[in-house]
Order: sequence, then C-alpha cells, then structure tokens
Amino acid sequence: QGQPEQHEFSAEVGRLLDLVVHALYSDREIFLRELVANAADATDKRRFEGLTNSALALPENASIRIAPEKDKKELVISDDGVGMTHDELAQNLGTIARSGTRAFGEKLNAAKAEDRPSLIGQFGVGFYAAFMVADRVDVTSRKAGADEAWTWSSDGKGAFTLTPSTRSTPGTDIVLHMKSDAEDFLDSWRLRSIIRKWADHISWPITLREVNEDGTVEEKAANEGTALWRKPKAEITPEQYTEFYRHIARAFDEPYATMHWHAEGTTEFTALLFLPNARPFDFMEQSRESKIHLHVRRMFITDEADLLPNWMRFVQGVVDTEDLPLNVSREMLQATPVLARIRKAVTKRVLTEIKTRAKDADAGFNAFWENFGAVLKEGLWEDSEHRQEIAGFARFHTTHGDDLTTLDDYISRMKDGQDVIYFLTGDNLDALKASAQLEGFHARGLEVLLLSDPVDAFWPERLHSYNDKTLRSVVYSHGDLEKFSTDNEETVEAANVDTLVPALKEALGDAVKDVRSTVRLTNSAVVITSEGGPDLAMQRLMRRSGQ
Ligand code: ADP
Repeated sequence: QGQPEQHEFSAEVGRLLDLVVHALYSDREIFLRELVANAADATDKRRFEGLTNSALALPENASIRIAPEKDKKELVISDDGVGMTHDELAQNLGTIARSGTRAFGEKLNAAKAEDRPSLIGQFGVGFYAAFMVADRVDVTSRKAGADEAWTWSSDGKGAFTLTPSTRSTPGTDIVLHMKSDAEDFLDSWRLRSIIRKWADHISWPITLREVNEDGTVEEKAANEGTALWRKPKAEITPEQYTEFYRHIARAFDEPYATMHWHAEGTTEFTALLFLPNARPFDFMEQSRESKIHLHVRRMFITDEADLLPNWMRFVQGVVDTEDLPLNVSREMLQATPVLARIRKAVTKRVLTEIKTRAKDADAGFNAFWENFGAVLKEGLWEDSEHRQEIAGFARFHTTHGDDLTTLDDYISRMKDGQDVIYFLTGDNLDALKASAQLEGFHARGLEVLLLSDPVDAFWPERLHSYNDKTLRSVVYSHGDLEKFSTDNEETVEAANVDTLVPALKEALGDAVKDVRSTVRLTNSAVVITSEGGPDLAMQRLMRRSGQ
C-alpha cells in the first residue's frame, strides 16, 4: 500500500463546509438524499457511457447499497457507478467548480431555516452535507475502465488525503464515521423512512442492510423505484407529486403547476412537468438550456436533450417515450425526428398551461411572473414562432399605478388617436419612474411601460408590434407628443430659448449631435436622448460587455 498524499481544500471549500455544517443542523437527514442522488447520477452516467463502450457497461444487478455498521459507528453507501480517478477525487471533492461561494454564504445566512436545505441542493455542494453527520469521511472509488482505486479521506477541516487502495469492481464506497450525536442515523427504521421520503423515485434499486432477529444479515429493498409518471393520475396523491417535484428539481417549494399527461398518435410519450413557485437563487447563473429528463421506457437517458426552448428552462420534470431504442446514442438523439415532435408537443402544452394560469385573476401568476418573467421575455427576443403568444400573457410595470399589467390592458387605456405602445427601458424601476423622459407623457396622460430587465433592451424591436399597435421607445417618440394636448397648457408654453440653444451647442461642441427645444419636458430643464442609434439602455449593456 502506498503512502497517503496530503492535499489542502481550496479556500472556498473550507468556508463552505463550515456553512453547510452549521447552517443546516436541523435538516441533517438530507445528507442521505445528497449521497444517494450522487450515486444514482454516477450509475446513470455509467449506463449511458456503456452503450457506446462495452468495457464500461454496468453489471446487470447494479444497485445502490446502504449498510449501517452499528458497532463500528459507520454508515456505508456503495454504488456501481462510473467511479472517480485520483484526479477526479481531488477535483470533485476538493474544489468548487461553480463561482459565487460568497453569494451562497450570504444567501444561506439570510435565508429562513426552512429554506436553507434547498440552497445546498441547488448549489451543487451536496457531498459536503456528509460532514453534518460524520466527523470523518472515506471515499474509495474505482473508475469504470480502470484497474486502480483510490481512497479520499478527510475530517472536513481544511485538508484531505488520497491513498492508493483496492476495489474489486468499478464504483464508489462512501464510509461515514458518524458523529456521536448522529448515531440515530444508523437505525434501520430511520434510514428507511429517509429513503422513502427522499429517494423513492430513484429508478435504481436501493437496498438497506438489516440484521434479522436471528442475527442473519439481509439486503432489503428500500425504495419503490416505480416511475411515478407511469402510474394513472387517479392513483397519485398531491403529496406524491410534490415529493417527486422536489426530488427532480432538488427544490423544497410546492410546484405552482403540475402537468401530467400521456400522448399517443404519431409519437407516444408520457410527460410529468412542473412549473416551480420559487426561483433558485443562482438561477441566472445556471446554464441556459432546459434540463428536462428524457427517459426511454423508464430508463433515464439524458437531461441534455433540450426538450423545451431556453426561455422555458425553469420548467422541471421528465418525458418518457416508447419511440426510441434503449441504446439511443448522443448522435441519434441529435438526428431523430422523434425528439423534434416531442419537443413541439411538450412546448405547446406548457405554453397552454402558462396561458391558462395567466387568465386566473389571483395573485399567483403575478408572483410567478416576478420570478420567471425575465426568462419568459427571452422568448420575445428569440422565439419568432411564439413571440406574439408570449406578448399576450406578459406582465409589465407601467406609469399607470403599481400593479402589473398586460398589453391588452394597456391598449384598453390608450388615448383617442394613440396607436403606439410607449415604453422606457432602464436599470431599475425607481429610476425609470423618476425619469425626465416621461414628463411630456405624464402631462398628456399617455401611459408608458417601464422595462427594467436587461433583456428588455432587446426584445421590443423584435416584437415590433402587438395587436397592430407598434411599440416605440419614448426616447424616439417626442414627435408624437405634438398630437396630444396636455392637461396643463402653461407647462409647455415655449420658453424663450432662441439664444440659449446656440449657446449650448457651442459649449457642448462635438460631445452631442444636436441641441433642440422640446415639448417633452414639464419640470426638468434638459434631457439627454439619442436618435437613430441604439436605445440608451442597449448602449449601456454593450458598454458593459466591452463592445
Ligand atoms: P453535485 O452532485 O451537485 O455536482 P456534489 O458535491 O454532491 O455536487 O458532488 C461533486 C461531484 O463529485 C459530482 O458532480 C460528481 O462528479 C462527483 N461524485 C460525487 N459522488 C459520486 C459518486 N458516488 N460516484 C461518482 N462521482 C461522484
């Protein structure tokens, strides 16, 4: 046996470990969910890689095994997954790939106790949850396709070791040396109830080692492992739907909407999809692709099949089809018309759900919009097929009161002779409300949409019009104002600016294109504006990205 190599954790990991261990004390049982989820992911991965490289193929009886060793005060979690090499052990369990540890820490400290567990699941630091219950963790892993094995070992206090080891088959064993106040996690009944709660939907068999009364040891099935989406709707309780949603989204909220249906015809598939209520805290940093899980006859295939457009990427769930072979390869996934048909049908169904919800008068949709509207609006920019439909349910802040409004509502309030939907874009709502650009519009009772999401700088031009009403930035609309009378004529009485304008032009020189008197302002003396070139907000966005 070789000597242990000493390694230090990256600074982030040290801080993070502290946070996870201390902030989540009351939810310690989720360590098991995280470790079992990792084991299932690793098994999925090996199955998929084994399709194209038979040397990596899974054994037929692949499973996830949980074995409490009461007298040794150890809990062992084993899998037949892809395993990790020496370097992967150091990398995956010793550093943090994603940025934003500090942001995570701040969120965690600020979050209510009941919201904290969802943060660690979302952040992808699940493995470290092991240190909530263990004062030492040994991970022995053999990569599928390799002969050597290594043991990663740490007390979670800043350093870890890597030691050459042996394992008769590929896969990973995680040995938790339990803290003295965590020994109840060695009880079978406790473990069984945690698995029921968190891991019932994992499709790999999970076994729990139990000691019978006569002293014999038995590996007993611990999860149902049935694909919930394959059951008839009438047999599924709302609680089961919620638990499945939480499992697949690694979330803790209730779903806002649940969509479960079976499609037959040219393509046969079952889908179980959810609209979330809460927005994951690092949502805008996540990949822009949809992560809907694709299954073929219950077998997980991939979460990279792009089953929904990017602007629906907050939707969670699974699609399971009969119309692809179980050994479908990546290349085939890209080429097959089956996926295109499923994509189309699933997108349509989600769109219908969102449209139906948008018609409900309750506050639910507005709350949903506050969380995901900025993503949905990306569809106004990039999805020509659905652009008008999205515009139909989109919500906006406007100069008319504080409530969110639809474009149809805006149109119903238009002035006589108004055929343009006016908008103003900027960085934040309060600044927009106070903008001098709005003065001439206020004075004439013309409503203006106030757009403060970054994507707002782009889509109005693409959408162009809604119900034959052109969208136009107030920045380009001063010519329109002359068509409307003000409520208060004296405010626009032309001041004598005959000498001021040339003087300003001279003073500002090439810094501006022109200086003009305007009817747009009522209270402010001057406003800076642009014509012809991109909208001001767009200019700012481009500057920020270094263009
Ligand atoms: P996440 O699972 O969200 O990526 P974790 O901290 O739980 O974050 O795990 C970090 C990484 O370690 C995983 O992405 C995976 O690559 C690797 N890993 C963890 N557990 C296992 C396992 N049982 N088998 C193989 N790889 C694993």
